[in-house]
Amino acid sequence: MTRRVLVTGGAGFLGSHLIDALLERGHEVLCVDNLFTGSKQNIYHLHNNPKFEFLRHDVCFPLYVEVDEIYNLACPASPIHYQHDPVQTTKTSVHGAINLLGLAKRLKCKILQASTSEIYGDPHTHPQTEEYWGNVNPIGPRSCYDEGKRCAETLFFDYHRQHGLEIKVARIFNTYGPRMNSSDGRVVSNFIVQSLKDEPITIYGEGEQTRSFCYVSDLVEGLIKLMESPSDFTGPVNLGNPNEFTIRELAEKVRNMTHSSADLIQMPLPTDDPKQRQPDIRLARQVLDWAPEVQLDEGLRETIDYFKTVV
Ligand code: NAD
Ligand code: UDP
Repeated sequence: MTRRVLVTGGAGFLGSHLIDALLERGHEVLCVDNLFTGSKQNIYHLHNNPKFEFLRHDVCFPLYVEVDEIYNLACPASPIHYQHDPVQTTKTSVHGAINLLGLAKRLKCKILQASTSEIYGDPHTHPQTEEYWGNVNPIGPRSCYDEGKRCAETLFFDYHRQHGLEIKVARIFNTYGPRMNSSDGRVVSNFIVQSLKDEPITIYGEGEQTRSFCYVSDLVEGLIKLMESPSDFTGPVNLGNPNEFTIRELAEKVRNMTHSSADLIQMPLPTDDPKQRQPDIRLARQVLDWAPEVQLDEGLRETIDYFKTVV
């Protein structure tokens, strides 16, 4: 059935791919974004699509629109950007959640929250299951993002318990692909851009910290399956690719795939940088019948081809 879908943060990396997938399924989409880290370029190809609408708006302020379901993705996601104005980052997660939950309550519609593996902090259990409560520094430079997202999860579950709202909470692990912002400092985009320019590849610390990288098409499929899951399934559910790599392995892989002669150099490790991260996706497999299909080499090839057109 065709639905009117609101996607906040829709001009960003994940949001713009989600919108493409929703439009392909025949839905109407309202994209709400304040263009802090997103760009009109990411949604430019949609400007003549009668089923697509863009509204420039900051989710920290109330929003009055009529839709059938809501994906809440609005929030800067890279450390450089979320630490640029940390108070605004917390406000975006917390006030944004309150405003959109209020909208969902008035409309009696489903609402999905883009939460994050960062709510596990620097984890003591490995891989991370949804039962793990996390190891998060409440007062460090990453806290504005981590604690903001944790508080948003709290608000989602309180609206669910207190007001009977149908909620869906996705804990998204590191995702990459075309339309990543080349200047937001995330590791995949940094390494590809540096390799393509034959500039030094900046490994923070020893490069022994690990991450598990999910290709954007897999992630979007997971978000949509979660939104369409049975009404009593709230999550939180991990969405990510469990194949784990050290940051040094990633650097070497990107350098080889781009045939680059860039040097690998070490830079200081950022404060509170998690040492390891890998999603346990058994819940997503079982309830959503979802698992990632695109492995790192294939996803990197697509992403490298994209960055060749923009750098
Ligand atoms: P992004 O920065 O590309 O997209 C975020 C979008 O939100 C941008 O378009 C930005 O302009 C918009 N935005 C920020 N503050 C806003 C505000 N106050 N009002 C309206 N719009 C606002 O990042 P992304 O990677 O696409 O991330 C999207 C969502 O997924 C975020 O909520 C992020 O926390 C979550 N997430 C992403 C990843 C990942 O690896 N990409 C991992 C975990 C969680
Ligand atoms: N990183 C790195 N070099 C870079 C950018 C990031 O070594 O140029 C490291 C960073 O310290 C972290 C990992 O790569 O250990 C992933 O960083 P990113 O900012 O992409 O995501 P997050 O830390 O939020 O997982």
